[in-house]
Amino acid sequence: MSATPGNGISSREDLLQMERSLDCVHCGLCLPSCPTYELFGRESAGPRGRVYLMRGLAEGSIAPEADVVRDLDQCLVCRACEPVCPSGVEYGAMMEFTRSNVLEPARKKTLKQRVKRWFLRSVLPHPAKLRRVADLLGMYHGSGLRGLLRRYGVVRFMSEELDLRDQLLPPLPPQRERKPLPRSTPAKGARRGRVAFLEGCVMPILLGSINRATVRVLSNQGFDVDVIEPRGCCGALQAHFGQIDLARSGALKLVRACADLGDVDAIVVNSAGCGAAMKEYGRLLDDQSGLSAMDKAAAHAFASKVKDVTEFLAEQGLRGTPRPIQAKATYADACHLAHAQRVTEPPRALLRAIPGLTLVPLARPDRCCGAAGLYNALHPKESLALLSERMNDVEHCGASILVSANPGCLLQWRAGVRMRRLDVDVVHPLELIDRAWGEP
Ligand code: SF4
Ligand code: SF4
Repeated sequence: MSATPGNGISSREDLLQMERSLDCVHCGLCLPSCPTYELFGRESAGPRGRVYLMRGLAEGSIAPEADVVRDLDQCLVCRACEPVCPSGVEYGAMMEFTRSNVLEPARKKTLKQRVKRWFLRSVLPHPAKLRRVADLLGMYHGSGLRGLLRRYGVVRFMSEELDLRDQLLPPLPPQRERKPLPRSTPAKGARRGRVAFLEGCVMPILLGSINRATVRVLSNQGFDVDVIEPRGCCGALQAHFGQIDLARSGALKLVRACADLGDVDAIVVNSAGCGAAMKEYGRLLDDQSGLSAMDKAAAHAFASKVKDVTEFLAEQGLRGTPRPIQAKATYADACHLAHAQRVTEPPRALLRAIPGLTLVPLARPDRCCGAAGLYNALHPKESLALLSERMNDVEHCGASILVSANPGCLLQWRAGVRMRRLDVDVVHPLELIDRAWGEP
């Protein structure tokens, strides 16, 4: 690169990160894959335009003015533009780098930004605090206050954005479903191996039954399951929203904790977003200055063992005879499983192996549902526009079960089903596998 670094990118070394953008040959093949390009119809709201903006920011030829920041913020980081790019542009890594190094320092300290930072820094990495916030959410739902505010239009009166956010808020499951997983669960029957399992941050609070189904399946299939301690966040959301320092400290904590567990056959994860981040820990920690070579090597070793649970089970093969599930189901790819991890066939193969379950195709199954980490909270209007389009596809396919493998997507799809009042069950693949292969 011939330009000098600009816009807060202080070192030449950092600027070299942007060399990734030089691979872009401006062919435009990525444009049809981009949900926001389709939604907004602007070049700068698509991957090719954003690559141009990111490079300009890094070189200092473009300033982080409001419209530039808006176009970059509106990216879902769904990474649908990566697999279709003939030049292999590492779009996701560039966006994380730009958000962290250019956009975050340049942001105005609005209330929305302060809340976002507070949540990413002071709540998400701390399971106890996250539980307290969830309890407040539960009180808001359970006390009838929410119904009252909605009935009299108070939320809408306060702001349209707040009203949209409120519509997307997930209900909190009962306390008994929010219990943490046991530290260790032994294999049942003939033992096949031992895995480490990431409990996650949002999963045990909002979708604890999926974690329990996952551990049951692994144990029934002959694997000892050890939950990685200390429990908590993998750093995926922080990286996604420009807090790379936090993402690195979360990653390092997890890498060291896993080393303490000793040898395992795999590090299994049932959240696509977490799995995608964990598979990239090698790169993430390689870029951290001052980290020992030993920690960097451990991060690479860790990343090489990470498997999405569907990927792991499809590789290992499911033993036993499944019980039938008589239903029509459709599978919606989670972006970070399909585009970031390139795992599309294993979950489908596992579902096809369930007798009685008819898998019907969803139009554009790998199109983002609009959840995208905290995107639905930060950009509720755009998120709902994307969801609405996808709900038309769900209604059209006629399935009574919608399957997806990421917590954010599951909550988003459930919000879509609630809003449309559809009789559709939204489940994780492991819930169906548990029903089919689990104990009667
Ligand atoms: S497909 Fe790749 S090379 Fe082509 S415009 Fe998009 S990012 Fe650039
Ligand atoms: S990550 Fe997704 S939203 Fe962002 S430019 Fe790529 S395809 Fe579009």
